[in-house]
Amino acid sequence: MAEFNDMDMAPEDFKALGYQVIDMIADYYKSVRDVPVFPESKSHEVKETFTQQLPYAGENPAAILDEWQEKVLPNATHLGSPRYFGFVNGSGTMIATLAEALAASVNMNVGAWKPSPAATEIERQTIAWIAELIGYNTDCGGQFVSGGTMANITSLLTALRNTADYDSTTEGLQSEKRRGQFTVYMSAHEGHVSIVRAVDVLNLGRYAIRRVPDKADFTMDTTALREMLAEDKRNGMIPFCVIGQAGAINTGAIDPLEEIADICVENNLWFHVDGACGAVGAMLPEKRPLYKGMERADSITLDPHKWLYIPYECGCVLVKDAEKMRRAFSISAPYLRGTLPTEYSGLDYLECGPQMSRGFRALKVWMSLKHYGVEGYRRLLNQNVDCASYLDGLVQKAADFQALHAPTLFIYSFRYLPADITSQYGEAGNYPEEVDNYLNNLNQQIADDIQHSGDAFIMTSRVRGQVVLRMSICSHRTTRADIAFVFERLREIGKMRHQINERRN
Ligand SMILES: *Cc1c(COP(=O)(O)O)cnc(C)c1O
Repeated sequence: MAEFNDMDMAPEDFKALGYQVIDMIADYYKSVRDVPVFPESKSHEVKETFTQQLPYAGENPAAILDEWQEKVLPNATHLGSPRYFGFVNGSGTMIATLAEALAASVNMNVGAWKPSPAATEIERQTIAWIAELIGYNTDCGGQFVSGGTMANITSLLTALRNTADYDSTTEGLQSEKRRGQFTVYMSAHEGHVSIVRAVDVLNLGRYAIRRVPDKADFTMDTTALREMLAEDKRNGMIPFCVIGQAGAINTGAIDPLEEIADICVENNLWFHVDGACGAVGAMLPEKRPLYKGMERADSITLDPHKWLYIPYECGCVLVKDAEKMRRAFSISAPYLRGTLPTEYSGLDYLECGPQMSRGFRALKVWMSLKHYGVEGYRRLLNQNVDCASYLDGLVQKAADFQALHAPTLFIYSFRYLPADITSQYGEAGNYPEEVDNYLNNLNQQIADDIQHSGDAFIMTSRVRGQVVLRMSICSHRTTRADIAFVFERLREIGKMRHQINERRN
């Protein structure tokens, strides 16, 4: 037997290494406004860079840190850049970076109270703060999860468990008591694909999702919702949940939440709000009226790793009645209960959500909220809202761009539309198919080109079937100057691409 060795670093060595890491991080933050947003390396090159032998002999930590500088950073996409507008990706607060290190050092497991007394109570408090921030019941249940998808899965299971007219916890979907197919409703245009993942995981089958037509402003048509519900019931389906969007993925639209809440009450349905990207906008007094009705939701999905700028991962689910969450997730095993309930036991998060072992995600949110305060966060969110309006103004004024929707929050989709096409074919929307295809291609080319240039990271989506440029402006670092710069780059690239394409034809 070799002599015992815990292999921890000596305190002095750890300090030296830690200071070096802090220097690296501080230098990174200093450069983050200027780095190319997307790396130049091709995917196979990145793969080759990290194809390595399993290390048998341990390495010097200094050499491992060198690899971060030499291999990881040059192959990173910089979500913290003010010109990163992809998906809906938060930019990462600095204090959360420190929180992550602190949380890892004490390494509490927030699945149960005993291994995480402080962490459990910080999570409970932070959940209540988030509820207060958006005008929701502060006694609600809820917890931090990996992201919006997991929050939607958690909400839909809670909905099903609490609305099925038989004991679905024991009998599940296989029950003979199930009278028909369960169905869930969301907006056809703006409903999020994570709901597809949720019905996959719950094994409800994708037919369970009923897509409700939307109005011209991309919000759910509640008259159509009523008709679909009535018809589905006549056909023997079991509607159990309606999902309203609070900030939709392509346009930032907010569904008529009050009307949906009424319809859910009338039909005895679970009302879920998918506010993964937009729910926190309710903290802005000027925007709060748009969210009217959200306070009546049975559950809400909200992603701190989006518009609260928290680094990955951090989603959050809120359930108005905490007991209903427990009903959906309560579970027992001898090894989960170390003691009889005493004054040294408390909330066990594993009893009210999908995970058992859980990380201390709450700390980075708790610290960021304390650092910025509600006032600081309002300011940051307003800056993003202002950038989206500013961009909308640029697009509206331009002869070579087309606006498609009002800039409700921070997501904005629009089109590059060369002026010669407008003058030849007139109003957008009535083009021959080959012109539509051409415009789709052109907009995709523009997004790809600007990504590869490293100047900005912009993606496309489809709005009413057409390929559009889509910018999700949820970096706390983005300024109007960034928007103006990017807009001009899009225009240059669009013009150049259009000329090349025309020469080819
Ligand atoms: C991002 C998003 C989700 C999924 O959240 P993840 O954190 O990516 O799992 C769900 N719904 C909406 C509206 C979103 O924007």
